Amino acid sequence: MATITVRGQTFSTAHLIDGQRVDDAESTFPSHNPCHWGAAPLGAVPRGDAKVATLAVDAAVRAFPGWAAMSPAERREPMHRLAALIDASLDRIAAVEASDMAMRFESLKMRVIPRAARNFRVYADMAVAYEERVWHSNTTANRVLRMPAGPAVIITPWNAPFMLSSWKVAPALAAGNTVILKPAEWSPLSACLLAEMIVEAGFPPGVFNIVHGLGHEVGDALVTDPRVRRLSFTGSPATARKIGAAGAKNIVPFTAELGGKAPLIVFDDADIDMAAKKAAGQYDDSGQSCMANTRLLVHQSVRDEFLAHFYAYTAAHVLGDAFDDATTITPLIHGDHLDRVLGFVDRAIKSGDKLLLGGKRHREGQLWIEPTLIEPQSNESEIVQNEVFGPVLSIQTFADEAEAVALANSTRYGLSAVLYTSSAARAERVGRLVRAGTVWVNCYLIRDLTAPFGGTGISGLGREGGDFALDFHSDLKTLQILEDSVS
Ligand code: ADP
Repeated sequence: MATITVRGQTFSTAHLIDGQRVDDAESTFPSHNPCHWGAAPLGAVPRGDAKVATLAVDAAVRAFPGWAAMSPAERREPMHRLAALIDASLDRIAAVEASDMAMRFESLKMRVIPRAARNFRVYADMAVAYEERVWHSNTTANRVLRMPAGPAVIITPWNAPFMLSSWKVAPALAAGNTVILKPAEWSPLSACLLAEMIVEAGFPPGVFNIVHGLGHEVGDALVTDPRVRRLSFTGSPATARKIGAAGAKNIVPFTAELGGKAPLIVFDDADIDMAAKKAAGQYDDSGQSCMANTRLLVHQSVRDEFLAHFYAYTAAHVLGDAFDDATTITPLIHGDHLDRVLGFVDRAIKSGDKLLLGGKRHREGQLWIEPTLIEPQSNESEIVQNEVFGPVLSIQTFADEAEAVALANSTRYGLSAVLYTSSAARAERVGRLVRAGTVWVNCYLIRDLTAPFGGTGISGLGREGGDFALDFHSDLKTLQILEDSVS
């Protein structure tokens, strides 16, 4: 079995199918370290094909009746064991993920990976705590039951892959579905550790499978298999359209989280320094987050004050290695992605947008781009309207609340938004008017797992989080029993 060693951690990259590690050594794809672009790959990962997809779906189909028949409390056991194993392996997972995804090691270890453990724990508990709706109508006693839906295919993106996968897999398992997870090909390695832990946690074989490979190969074969009963996806709108079409063909519910173009709105009554600090923080992880607030919308009267604070915070950023404690900005994930991001900047400048900051590669041959700020000539500029997924922000001013709301709502996206204001009435008014799945006021990224999460417009379809995710992974059933007909 092929193993690789990353920062002293040796592990197998094989698929996990039916409780067995399956090595498909015939065809592989490389995994790279974005902090050392151009160096030898970290290792090779099996490039699953349609045959591998079929084997994984076979296993998930076989395991489904047994897993579905277990009570939520029984299913909770291996999920809690997995959470404990993750908690015991934070260093190891963070080291591997910092190597192939290049998020900061410290942030992965202290903040991001612990959330993965929490996701498994919280969803397992939430399924146990589910209270069936019970009511009486005329002559019947009625209840709403959750039926596990069947095998679920979960396709995840390359940013924060371990945590984002757990956030999508946990509700599927807790609801009684079996799972096939297909991690993204640019950061597949932490999922190899997850595969080890799934076996150790004692999930029945076939309940939780992981297959590696490219989206248009094994990914496509998985999402088009008619035996799959749920499709859950995070990634780009272009891929969502393909997966959604497969779901429509097979009449399979589909949920999609597709990124955003989130506004950060700074009113003249706001704590300007706090807002500027948060705005400069959008460059962390090179802006590779679906919730990054990339459109700075600032009241015209505080623009200069805001920019002075923003420039000071931005100047303090350190572009560096994911394992260096001083680093605040890690590189982009891949050379192709860097070209894409620089393409946005070039087109913006050529079209007449004004470059206020950055815009250049930080070090020749490597994947850092300097924190970049662009003042667009119009709200229709591509840099305002399309997701870049890089360290590129735009700044625009507004004259009043109505204009702020109009600008905030002027893209096709709507995942999240942040408002800075000291007025409760304004927070309420604007909070209601901004079209986004989540609106944070004077705060950012505070997530409550029981709250719905998802986007409007092309930011997505459906909601994850809490009971919304458990309902998505269930077929709800109304059970009606004629009163006094049974004893
Ligand atoms: P991004 O732009 O964030 O890389 P993608 O949508 O390309 O987003 O990729 C997100 C995930 O979707 C990855 O795991 C990728 O392998 C997968 N994927 C890409 N194309 C397909 C497809 N046709 N069918 C299923 N999965 C796909």
